[in-house]
Amino acid sequence: MPDQARRSRMIRKASRLPPGGPARRKILAALKGNQIGYGPEALKLSWQGDFPETVPCVKCGKDSRHVLTVMEGGEEDAADLHHNDWKDGEFWFHDYAAFSLYMCPDIDCTTVTTKWNQG
Ligand SMILES: [Zn+2]
Repeated sequence: MPDQARRSRMIRKASRLPPGGPARRKILAALKGNQIGYGPEALKLSWQGDFPETVPCVKCGKDSRHVLTVMEGGEEDAADLHHNDWKDGEFWFHDYAAFSLYMCPDIDCTTVTTKWNQG
């Protein structure tokens, strides 16, 4: 969470940007910080559409259950961790992302599957 002086600068900057635009939205999200949630409300922590309650396990295909969701909106984000190099066919995030984790209930599998989207 930004300190008060930084928060004030961010609010002034956001107030000069077009309402609803991506730059303003990113600043306002940063003021709120990263969010983590569990349960049905956490399925709405998304930069795009809601996350599903279950997804097929990437290993065995059984229905995996939602565990938690993390929605970025802080001063640091995954986009800064690695380079996004389209020409070498390497994808990496270019904006805030949201990650929803699901665990396979099969005791012989217990694989975690992740769905994601970004701002
Ligand atoms: Zn599985």
